[in-house]
Amino acid sequence: MKKILEIKNLKKSYNGKKVLDIDYLEIEESSIYGLIGKNGAGKSTIMKIILGLVKKDEGTIKAFGYELNLKSQKDLNKNIGAIIENPSFYDHLTGYENLEIISSLKGIKKDEISKTLELVGLKNVGKKKTREYSLGMKQKLAIAMALIGKPKLLILDEPINGLDPQSIEEMRNLFKNIIKNTSTSILISSHILDEIEKIATHIGILKHGKLTYNGSLEEYRKLHPPFISISTSDNKKAIELLDLDTDKIKGKKIILGKLSNIDIADIVNFLHGKVSIYRIEEEKESLEKLFIEESRS
Ligand code: ADP
Repeated sequence: MKKILEIKNLKKSYNGKKVLDIDYLEIEESSIYGLIGKNGAGKSTIMKIILGLVKKDEGTIKAFGYELNLKSQKDLNKNIGAIIENPSFYDHLTGYENLEIISSLKGIKKDEISKTLELVGLKNVGKKKTREYSLGMKQKLAIAMALIGKPKLLILDEPINGLDPQSIEEMRNLFKNIIKNTSTSILISSHILDEIEKIATHIGILKHGKLTYNGSLEEYRKLHPPFISISTSDNKKAIELLDLDTDKIKGKKIILGKLSNIDIADIVNFLHGKVSIYRIEEEKESLEKLFIEESRS
């Protein structure tokens, strides 16, 4: 897979306090990279540094194969679309007209506007004044603005904050559509881990300015395999037979933990004929729970 962004040894301090110290972060082409971390972890600062809005102290950033520096930033920004702070619109203009302004600012032909409105799901309201838009519609329009010019990377800082569940679901589908139908990759930050889990292909876990994980969500899952639970006709007896503590019984289940296929087969064979096994379940821990556990350790 081609790398579209590569960050090495990135450091940033504010008033002598280190807020970023990142060894390595990479974003692959056609991916949705979810940058997760609590408020204050440094998510926005990374995004602002990539965009040249904040100066880094040390480190290198390569975007689309070129090193970012004062000279290259302007050119590279042409390949990046971003929503960092609350987007602003001309309220008295329509969605279409707002996109017209952005297109001319970016020097892009107007033919892209209708397609972009369609991609973000605003085709039917493109002629409505944006002051009549809901928060969800405004957020879609902001994404449309960022998408004008077909950027290679879309940077979205906490884009689902404050949205209602239906708008969040529409956003989720929109991000997936962008990856499927365009050549734009997405870097998205959020402190709502359950949401990131539903959309990201890759994640970066940021804690106090340090990246404790950078890689695919699939790989992260392999490092944190699901745990196994069983329920039987007599859980108390099963616990005794397996020589386990009674606190392993949770409700109607016995929590066995993280087991290999062979371990599971051994347990089933061992219990066979002694108790009836009703269910064997694989339970995935949510990213949220793993994140909290890791924070404690
Ligand atoms: P996040 O986006 O994860 O919430 P930020 O990147 O906004 O985190 O902030 C990271 C840390 O840097 C925080 O401790 C924040 O207070 C600090 N910080 C951010 N911007 C500034 C600034 N302009 N001046 C001083 N401190 C800042």
